Amino acid sequence: MNTELLVERLKQLGWSYTADQPDGLLEDSSKNNVSYSEFLYTLLSKEIEYKEAIELEKRIKKSRLPYVKTIHDFDFSFQPSLDQKRINEALTGRYIHHGENIILLGPPGVGKTYLAISMAFEALTQGHTALFITANDFISECRKANKEGLIQRIIKRYCRPDILIMDEIGYFSFDELSAPTLFQIISKRYEQGAMILTSNKSYVEWGKIFGDDVLATAMLDRIVHHSTTFNIKGDSYRLREKKKAGLQPANIR
Ligand code: ADP
Ligand code: MG
Repeated sequence: MNTELLVERLKQLGWSYTADQPDGLLEDSSKNNVSYSEFLYTLLSKEIEYKEAIELEKRIKKSRLPYVKTIHDFDFSFQPSLDQKRINEALTGRYIHHGENIILLGPPGVGKTYLAISMAFEALTQGHTALFITANDFISECRKANKEGLIQRIIKRYCRPDILIMDEIGYFSFDELSAPTLFQIISKRYEQGAMILTSNKSYVEWGKIFGDDVLATAMLDRIVHHSTTFNIKGDSYRLREKKKAGLQPANIR
């Protein structure tokens, strides 16, 4: 049969994986003498895998993760305060279905961003949507959106994804615009949408970050109600790498 006709039909169906290589797939099956049902099954499976990979790629792009890293390369022996079982539980993604939160606290370099990213990536592979933002970028986005009268759009954008990841809460203070905007997002997501938050500050210091103890308490109340907190109390992995390279801590900036 003329493969051009076949390709045309495959394209009409949107079967791009098969449409790109019909000769190879047909040759393989006749060489290996596979049954029709086996051939069809392999074809369908490959097409589905291909489509899933494309969808995953789209979700990764939309998530704005700064990089992708999986938990497989995380060195748990370096962070003994971290309970690997609890991390594995988080990686199952159960918290997402219940609209719960994961909070990673600890000093710089202990792997908070890495863990947040690997949890987000795992969720993306499970078919969820995610959106990553640093607290500082959020503050800037709010300012910009406000100038254009688009604060409501910000609230919608950050309420939409299955998981909202906010990294580096605590390095910069939220202002009179970004603090109540985040509060609205957190209130709307409460028990509906999961969040992964990272901070170098303990909960008692959150009042200062948001410039308002009452707001911070109300926010924390909602965040912590259904949540898992990882309090990481280890050394910085960045410093370890620098020490290994022969640099003294005093030289490190
Ligand atoms: P934090 O967000 O807590 O400041 P990061 O997650 O950015 O720390 O980690 C700092 C660097 O060290 C990153 O390059 C990260 O990939 C790496 N890193 C941190 N902890 C580990 C670990 N336990 N195993 C492997 N790499 C790690
Ligand atoms: Mg970080």
